[in-house]
Amino acid sequence: MANAAPNGRYDIVISGASYAGLALARALSQALEGSARIALVDRRPVGPRGSAPDARAFALSAGSKRMLEILGVWGLVADAAQPVAAIEITDSSLDAGVRPVLLTYENAVEGGEPASYIVPAGPLNDALAEVVAGDGGIEIVAPEEIASFVGDAALDLTFAGGAAVKASLLIAADGRNSPLRGMAGIKSVGRSYPQTGIVTTVAHAKPHNGHAVQHFLPGGPFAILPLPGNRACITWTEEADEARRILALDDAAFLEEVDKRFGGKLGTLSLAGPRQSWPLELHLARSYIAPRFAVVGDAAHVVHPIAGQGLNLALRDAAALTEAITDAARLGLDLGSAQALERYERWRRFDAAMSTAAFDGLNVLFSNDLTLLRAARDVGLGLVNRSPMLKQLFVAEAAGITGDVPRLLRGEAV
Ligand SMILES: Cc1cc2nc3c(=O)[nH]c(=O)nc-3n(C[C@H](O)[C@H](O)[C@H](O)COP(=O)(O)OP(=O)(O)OC[C@H]3O[C@@H](n4cnc5c(N)ncnc54)[C@H](O)[C@@H]3O)c2cc1C
Repeated sequence: MANAAPNGRYDIVISGASYAGLALARALSQALEGSARIALVDRRPVGPRGSAPDARAFALSAGSKRMLEILGVWGLVADAAQPVAAIEITDSSLDAGVRPVLLTYENAVEGGEPASYIVPAGPLNDALAEVVAGDGGIEIVAPEEIASFVGDAALDLTFAGGAAVKASLLIAADGRNSPLRGMAGIKSVGRSYPQTGIVTTVAHAKPHNGHAVQHFLPGGPFAILPLPGNRACITWTEEADEARRILALDDAAFLEEVDKRFGGKLGTLSLAGPRQSWPLELHLARSYIAPRFAVVGDAAHVVHPIAGQGLNLALRDAAALTEAITDAARLGLDLGSAQALERYERWRRFDAAMSTAAFDGLNVLFSNDLTLLRAARDVGLGLVNRSPMLKQLFVAEAAGITGDVPRLLRGEAV
């Protein structure tokens, strides 16, 4: 992808060109209709990941899909995405012979639109990068990173390569360890989980019919996310020492471990992708903003993957920040104005804090082998299973279209 040397004055500089940064750059460029000069910086080259592919597949909500449609991205990933028709939840010990389904629900919102889609990370990254590359309002600055920034009426940014520029607004989309968040003096609270996230793709003999499955197992949730064809992405949380042992196994023994947890419904399994792992953690930035500065995505919050919501929250951040900045610009305010940034923080921080706590609680509740606790939670799941209204509420929540929803997630241009 063609890269520019940073120079002169930018209206907006975004650091981090992964899922959140790419989506945000495109959303801002579209909403501000080319009136702003936007730089998108990353320390890695931007575009197809080449020798370092991301093996994950993301469960994206209907709201996220609507936003990607407006950004012109969805059409490029639609063929690789699998609509989720139904969700099944089980809760059993590792050695259980069968994994009885305790809760199952149709995954559709009003009008029959699927509430979520499974989207492989590679095609999503490539589609976002392609759309950004074709957007004349965005300059890619990569590989490069920001070494320091100071200022008040405008920010003075210095790059590691020595270039110096001015900017009205700097946005950190630089991931869970966000160097810029630290430079802005924003602390983050959280902790590491004693768990590891393992991801791989399997092919199976029988069709999944669009059903996603969440097996709650003592080491952590084991999610089977359907992909087009007879394939599924496994997002599997395991206690860290056990994960280390499993990841060191050869392919045949690794597949046996997958098979043991899988539940047997989809017939014979084979590995159909690389295995990767992530340390799992929870964190929440104490503040989302500083003068002429904001954080989005994992730089702002990292949640347990139990509910597959981290990227959905990141896209919600991008949508809300775009709307706050654009509305302020239309009133004649500066793009880095405190009013816009404060509106963004009010809009997003409480929601992200609630989600962080909720997914943490779910993980604590389900990732154990305590008989009494399992009995209690299974009664709870059974009750939900018999309540169509509760199920509908859960589906609407997971679809990302409840609450104070930014326009992009409603499928409306800003
Ligand atoms: C196992 C697993 C499964 C998941 N499944 C789901 C799911 O199903 N659904 C869902 O919604 N979410 C899911 N998530 C969460 C999701 O992956 C993250 O929330 C999302 O990737 C965050 O994107 P981001 O762009 O904020 O950060 P990142 O993807 O971490 O990107 C950060 C970017 O910043 C760049 N960078 C870092 N430092 C600098 C610097 N100093 N200068 C310039 N650039 C820098 C990096 O190179 C990178 O490009 C999952 C997470 C895990 C671990």
